[in-house]
Amino acid sequence: MVLAVKLRADAFMVCLTHALSTEEEEVMGLLIGEVVDDCADVSAVSMLRRSDKRKDRVEISPEQLAMGAQEAEHLAIRLQKPMRVVGWYHSHPHITMWPSHVDVRTQSIYQTMDSGFFGLIFSCFNHDAQSMGHIDLTCFQSVTSTTTEGQEILNGRDLPVHICRTSSISQPCLEALSKLPRILLEEEQEALHEAERESSDLLSRVHNGSVFAKSLSRFMEIICGPIMQALESRLEHHERKIKQLKAEKTRLKEALT
Ligand SMILES: [Zn+2]
Repeated sequence: MVLAVKLRADAFMVCLTHALSTEEEEVMGLLIGEVVDDCADVSAVSMLRRSDKRKDRVEISPEQLAMGAQEAEHLAIRLQKPMRVVGWYHSHPHITMWPSHVDVRTQSIYQTMDSGFFGLIFSCFNHDAQSMGHIDLTCFQSVTSTTTEGQEILNGRDLPVHICRTSSISQPCLEALSKLPRILLEEEQEALHEAERESSDLLSRVHNGSVFAKSLSRFMEIICGPIMQALESRLEHHERKIKQLKAEKTRLKEALT
């Protein structure tokens, strides 16, 4: 049973970066962590490639679920704590955070495998009347209720979600973040091959190639550049810290002698 969700800030940042990578399509992934006293503690993320590109059809294939479970097992060994897949997330670009009837139905299927499984929805690329952009987050589960006519219907139920501060980005979150450019590249390559299968005349090939190059340039600008910048400043910060600690060590050694 899961009554509340604790989402660590670094895991939140990975999900959000993924959600903001595209405003044309919904993106999705798995949430990895542990459940302690009815509270799910999410500390790692596994980004997934979209298997169905139709609108509002974010469904995780059984293969992706199995791979996610395997990733969680490896993390459990590495971190020496009971990690497992506890939920999933997906984005709602340009629409509200509320789960659609498809989301509620998909969620109910996951709950038949694990009753504590929950879903997060990141609503992004929304603007208010003052053109201020905002991001909304909701956490939900599916519940079955009976109408007065005795008919069973599925509804979404909100779960409280708390974003908890972390002192730095954990290694699993950093690794998940660095996988994003590859996932985006693979999705674009797949779209290019699909387009090439449909039309193979010279003009179409030139057009498709240009669209592909344009997408990759966009990813370089909005995803790879900022990630590299963030990693470089993290490296700089650690190098500064090492220098400080070394100076402190020398000072303490001198004090001892
Ligand atoms: Zn949805």
